[in-house]
Amino acid sequence: MTEEQLSTIWKAVLTAVKDEFTPAVQRTIFKQTNLRSVEGATAEVGVENAFAKSFLQKYAEDMLVTHLQKAGAGEISLIRFVIQPSSVHREKKTISSVRVEPALFTQGRSTIEPNPALASNLNPKYTFGSFIVGNRNRLAHAAAKAVAETPGKLYNPLYLYGGVGLGKTHLMQAVGNEIIAKDPNKKVLYVSCETFTNEFVSSIQGAKRDEFKKKYRNIDVFLVDDIQFMAGKEGTQEEFFHTFNALYQSDRQIIITSDKVPSEIKDLEERLSSRFSMGMIADMQLPDSETRQAILKAKCQEKGINLPDSIVTYIAESVETNIRELEGALTTVLLDLHSRHAQPSLEEVRRALRAFVTPEKMARKSSALQLAEIVCEFYGTPLEDVKGPRRQKELVRPRQVLMYLLKHELGMTFPTIGREIGGRDHTTAMHAVTKIEKEMKRLPETLDELQRLKEYFYAHK
Ligand code: ADP
Ligand code: MG
Repeated sequence: MTEEQLSTIWKAVLTAVKDEFTPAVQRTIFKQTNLRSVEGATAEVGVENAFAKSFLQKYAEDMLVTHLQKAGAGEISLIRFVIQPSSVHREKKTISSVRVEPALFTQGRSTIEPNPALASNLNPKYTFGSFIVGNRNRLAHAAAKAVAETPGKLYNPLYLYGGVGLGKTHLMQAVGNEIIAKDPNKKVLYVSCETFTNEFVSSIQGAKRDEFKKKYRNIDVFLVDDIQFMAGKEGTQEEFFHTFNALYQSDRQIIITSDKVPSEIKDLEERLSSRFSMGMIADMQLPDSETRQAILKAKCQEKGINLPDSIVTYIAESVETNIRELEGALTTVLLDLHSRHAQPSLEEVRRALRAFVTPEKMARKSSALQLAEIVCEFYGTPLEDVKGPRRQKELVRPRQVLMYLLKHELGMTFPTIGREIGGRDHTTAMHAVTKIEKEMKRLPETLDELQRLKEYFYAHK
């Protein structure tokens, strides 16, 4: 087969498997792959590193075999994954502007006195054992596992991002807990971004900079939660930059979580966001219904409670926001059943959950409805058609515009938007929003149209 043929086949395969994996998996794993050869029943696929290799072997091999056949590669039955590091791979030790305070590091670790204040801050509940893996958090989980096994070596930093309540803190702390379990001498430190900021600020006020530095630069594993809150805090960012570099230079593991990718955090210095992107960036999204059921079952087991499958399914399907709320819903149901000594019937559960609608969600829901009404009025199309399956141009337009506004004005997530607008897939919503965004840049009349719609909406509110 010529190189061109191989490349065409591989492109077709990648397109076919695209929807099965999250964008981060596509970016970090698939983007760096190529089809090197096809000989008999064996296809050889080049991958960037050992992690990608084991990930693909575990989760994608069968699917790739099927799609290779479909794309005309012949009767493939086996894939050999070959590691071929790309030349642009992390240039680890060559960060130019690094300033490491020499005194702290030439001291060597053993001469530094143990700092009693250096508790790890970890919650022992957050372990890998209690973390359920599904298709929407698989990359993050696999990367976290790899980091726990060889901290400081493979992915540094590991950057986990995703919406609230989707398991970022849990997974990050699972790494810390596992490292300490294996080697209690390892110094793991978990801090929220706020804690870091506050301690930094009070270290300046109390002239305790050295103490601060000693605390933060003498650790093996540094876990920083919700880094987005560092936005706009210049002094803290500066200090964090040096902390990061000091740790990174000496191969200490850093894990960061955030609600967005580094480049989307507003008012975050470029030099920080580029460092955050040096290791692995993995996303965490809302797990599908089966995974949510598995999570609920695990939580029930933890509590020693046995709920019928039909009820577990019902709860899993009624909560589609995040796992924290899923747990909340379970607690609500259990408390309700307990307080009324009721048998867990579906009817009882439904009743119990009816109350489980947060005011915030209510407000958002009514705004969403308002927005939908305005869009429909504007385009003169009935809402049920906009939500419905038909794909005529006159319906597609308001549908996409509505999706765009739900995203930008109400901050709804893609899965929620997809679901609200006729039970569509999150990728459909994502596609619609991107399309409108692009068009607004290109066409002044679209920009104007959206501007007017927004004005109507805010005038109605
Ligand atoms: P985030 O930091 O992303 O806001 P958390 O890590 O605090 O989310 O998770 C919220 C709750 O959901 C926690 O109680 C956590 O244990 C639970 N949780 C999240 N993801 C999972 C998972 N995959 N398996 C089991 N529990 C999970
Ligand atoms: Mg968190």
